[in-house]
Amino acid sequence: MEISYSKITAYLRCPRQFELKYVKKVDYLVSPYLYLGGSVHEAIAWAYRLKMDGETPSIDGLRSIFGQYWDSYKFLEDEEEPREVNWGDENPNDLREAGQMLVSLYWQKIAPYVQPIDVEVPFRRDFGGITLVGKIDLITGTGKLVDLKTKKRAFSDAELARELQPSLYALGMGAQGDIEFDFHTMVKTKNPYVAVASTRRTSSELSWIARELLPRVARAIESGIFPPNPINFLCTPDCDVWHWCKGG
Ligand code: SF4
Repeated sequence: MEISYSKITAYLRCPRQFELKYVKKVDYLVSPYLYLGGSVHEAIAWAYRLKMDGETPSIDGLRSIFGQYWDSYKFLEDEEEPREVNWGDENPNDLREAGQMLVSLYWQKIAPYVQPIDVEVPFRRDFGGITLVGKIDLITGTGKLVDLKTKKRAFSDAELARELQPSLYALGMGAQGDIEFDFHTMVKTKNPYVAVASTRRTSSELSWIARELLPRVARAIESGIFPPNPINFLCTPDCDVWHWCKGG
């Protein structure tokens, strides 16, 4: 079985959502914030590639690349079908402007302190017949793994401590021992800002994920039992598959 961070978190939050998205593959729309995050991510990856080649991308260049992705980008999740966006109450023009501001802020305030050695590094690692796949956004010169995140609000300490991505990505990259992981967050509030959220995972936390979480989630998915989880905090009309689950 092939499994990813997105699939594991979707399953744990709501098995019914996992079933509709990944088993039944309903034609759901993506949220505006995933769309924003995708375009921000592509623009920053472009700039870091230039930086790795010894070039200095300009802020205007970065904003322009963001705009090109925004205007043409089709959201891709796990390399599957392009999806349209459910704009809901969001104004696409406001979000486009916020995205340009976020990439500018990021490049001015965070990127100067980052020396990348690789960007968008795919991984694929076997754990007893379960293949963990994914792509790490950035590896720095100090060997730190980094994920670029566009969010509506900053990580709380509790959220950061619970987040599975550091452990799963470290396992996927074959990390040994304790690891440090940074989220470079671009926060789209009324006044957008950027921040680095650093976290650590111990080797015993990593081995618990590999020993307990991965095989249990994989077995649960293989069982084909997908109960809805209406008590999870994302069970609102903003759920990507609300229409197919509760909308009728
Ligand atoms: S509407 Fe609620 S129960 Fe249904 S798939 Fe979404 S999160 Fe799960």
